[in-house]
Amino acid sequence: MCSEFNPIVETGEGNPTKKLRRENFNPGSTLGGGKEPSDCPLVENRPLGPRSARDSSHTAALYVHIPFCVRKCPYCSFYSIDSYEQDLLDRFIEALGRELELVRPRLSLRTVYFGGGTPSLLQLHHWERIAKFLEEEVRTSVQEWTVECNPGTLSEQLLVQLRAIGVNRISLGIQSTDDRVLQRLGRIHSAAEAIKSYDLVRRCGFENVSVDLIYGVPGQTLEVWADTLKTVVSLGPEHVSAYELTVEEDTQFFEMYGLRYSVEQEEVTCLMHELAADFLGQHGYVQYEVSNYARGELNHIGMVPRYACLHNVGYWKGHWYVGVGPSAASYVDGIRSVNVQDVYSYCEIVELGVRPIGYAECLPPLFRAGEIAAFGFRMTSGWDLDEFRQITGFDLMEVWNEEINQLLSLGWAELRGSRLYLTSVGLRFADQVAEMFLR
Ligand code: SF4
Repeated sequence: MCSEFNPIVETGEGNPTKKLRRENFNPGSTLGGGKEPSDCPLVENRPLGPRSARDSSHTAALYVHIPFCVRKCPYCSFYSIDSYEQDLLDRFIEALGRELELVRPRLSLRTVYFGGGTPSLLQLHHWERIAKFLEEEVRTSVQEWTVECNPGTLSEQLLVQLRAIGVNRISLGIQSTDDRVLQRLGRIHSAAEAIKSYDLVRRCGFENVSVDLIYGVPGQTLEVWADTLKTVVSLGPEHVSAYELTVEEDTQFFEMYGLRYSVEQEEVTCLMHELAADFLGQHGYVQYEVSNYARGELNHIGMVPRYACLHNVGYWKGHWYVGVGPSAASYVDGIRSVNVQDVYSYCEIVELGVRPIGYAECLPPLFRAGEIAAFGFRMTSGWDLDEFRQITGFDLMEVWNEEINQLLSLGWAELRGSRLYLTSVGLRFADQVAEMFLR
């Protein structure tokens, strides 16, 4: 998963979230909120979601995790493996199909997102199978289908096939247009190959292309970052995601640079963030989320530009999402679950006809509302107070009065009419703001 927003909030001790692990989950007991077992989406073999999940008001986003990469990048903490037999790919695709069958009966999908890992590693016959699995949804309800692609794994044949089966958005992991930065990131491609891949995506007819970039990489100067932004703008993608490198504990970068890396780099990464916002803004890209920029007129209801990623906007607005594949997370009707992480266990469990849930938690409504508030504040449009009440049932200004006053007095937030949003300074501290809303 290179560019997809990860909806899981790390929960520390004292957090009100009730965590249920598969080994001690008793389907005969009731879950939080007085839920009856018969309504519980966690009961094995029960399709995910309540009966109302097919209502248009309860459409869901589908995330599909493809856990294979050519080589593990030293900064990456997402689950993927880079050493496997080809047979495993075939077995995994069939398991995906079975998992989709298990969650399908109550799904109405608006967006589909294939991340990983490296989905563009899959071969033509795998995509043929995937097209079969999703045929009905693609024909009837899916508005946006994104596939993450890595330069160095693309062919014209593959891209033509992706278009033919209904994929209408490509997210290309260019990361940088500087070869030294790419080498440091352990990427499998050069800058020239990345640009060649972008041109190929365009030649194959994709009209909605996103480019992923990383800043704050060891040795990357402000000038190098400015050059990358300039080159990417000259390519003209509809969407740019610019992520700050974070050094996660279970990565090679952690061993090399340690946890203090981000703190030590804070000054320069602040400048890089501002440079991206200014430069992309000057070239017609609207910043609609902390790290995301898109072209196109603003949609006056959602206040996001036309080429914003619908799938991720759904996460930030608290919509339901279903994740399939190892380590993928789901949130439906108050229940959040995460699949087992290991691809072999994943296949074994699904082959038994069982949903491969590693753990699940029932989110108390107030906690979930706080989480939705925090996610929504990542967007530059923030929250319309009425919209928030409709989605969560809670009054933002009433429940979080103290926190909001604090944000307003710090200059981190502004209230205009019925819309409360973070200022550019507040967006820089979106993670700290998020913690203020979790109850
Ligand atoms: S290509 Fe690199 S960053 Fe992307 S998922 Fe694989 S290991 Fe992670």
